[in-house]
Amino acid sequence: MNSRETLFVADGKLNIGNFEASALARKYGTPLYVMDGDHIENLCKKMIDAVAAYGDGAVAYASKAFATKATTRLMDKVGMWFDAVSGGELHLLLTSGVNPKHIIFHGNAKTEREIREGVSADVGYFVIDSISEIDRLDAEAGRQGKKQEVLVRINPLVSAHTYFAVQTAAPNSKFGFDIEKDALDYVKDINSRKNLVFKGLHIHIGSQIYGHSSYDVAVDKMVDFIVKLGEVGINCHTLDLGGGYGVYYTDEDPKFTPESTANIVKNILARLAVKVAEKGLGKPFVIVEPGRSIVGEAGITLYTVNAIKDFGVKKYVAIDGGMFENPRHALYDSQYSAIVCDKADEPMTEKVTLAGKCCESGDIIAEDVPLQKAEVGDVVAVFTTGAYNYSMSSNYNLNAVPPVVMVKVDKADLIVKGQTYEDILRNNVVPEWI
Ligand SMILES: *Cc1c(COP(=O)(O)O)cnc(C)c1O
Repeated sequence: MNSRETLFVADGKLNIGNFEASALARKYGTPLYVMDGDHIENLCKKMIDAVAAYGDGAVAYASKAFATKATTRLMDKVGMWFDAVSGGELHLLLTSGVNPKHIIFHGNAKTEREIREGVSADVGYFVIDSISEIDRLDAEAGRQGKKQEVLVRINPLVSAHTYFAVQTAAPNSKFGFDIEKDALDYVKDINSRKNLVFKGLHIHIGSQIYGHSSYDVAVDKMVDFIVKLGEVGINCHTLDLGGGYGVYYTDEDPKFTPESTANIVKNILARLAVKVAEKGLGKPFVIVEPGRSIVGEAGITLYTVNAIKDFGVKKYVAIDGGMFENPRHALYDSQYSAIVCDKADEPMTEKVTLAGKCCESGDIIAEDVPLQKAEVGDVVAVFTTGAYNYSMSSNYNLNAVPPVVMVKVDKADLIVKGQTYEDILRNNVVPEWI
């Protein structure tokens, strides 16, 4: 169990805010995503404070981790900015009332439509990620008679210590311009474009990274690069350091509190302040882009146990969810910790594999993890499912994407309704020639 204050055991039962987890499962059905609004709000505020301690800047929440209208509204209210990586995310942010100037538009292969919609919406920054995007964005801004402010995604060549698929700044990464090769030439090119306004640089070195040492290496490299830009007369107004701060999934991970997570950001920015001062530069406007660390531990998923198979060497507890609502084990070999909600006081004497209901042997949520003795019908909670679960869900096996409930101390409400069978088939069309 992570160290969230609103998650605790009372009378042998798992509670979330003022609600028993098993009671929420009975009311809304399972599988059920439950998000803790207080935890999200607290983290947003602490991150904003961490940036304020440095100076001018913003915290842009990476929508891809978990995005709904309700959470967007909640974060917007406390002063967050937002990342979008698709036209769909941009649409969600705009329809949720986010100031377009607070939107940063990312993506390594933006479509014509996305470029058109982003320019037309007056998003704060486009983050240019490729050579072709320079021409395409310049042309589109010209067509709309606008000067689009841009950041340039740089690959600082820092191999963060995390899982391969979530490293994004190693050599040969698909993201950004290589800091040691052509980045400077492309920034010069962008700076000379008629309809683009070069505002600064962006990096994002990976995800589920602990501590600040990988970031420190990246910060040093970026400050050196800013010096090089200065030498050719280009001013870097904004430095966007990306996200990637880790969360607690299992006892293999450190434990975090909102304070300790925010302290990592404070440390990174303190180093940045020292570095720029050393080089005689002013402090850039700084942006950080946490995703997972804002919503990860805020989420738990509730399941009902439908089957148990004990092979001696391996015991499966099969639940009514799976890779359609949490594909992270299948994708990244991720691990989770779990609890039997109404046996929360009992010792974890079992070692079980939580298996999903999809027709794939790889449909696992967590492998060989400690658990109380579970029986068919028990409600099981899996922790730290707030990031990259709902946002990565699918209709595999035509399973419905589960509902999302938000709890805020004494309030609990749906923020996303569960899909119906009709929802799943809504876009099916049968041509009359069949
Ligand atoms: C995914 C992503 C983030 C957020 O990463 P987390 O690991 O969820 O914090 C931030 N910035 C960019 C550009 C990203 O692609």
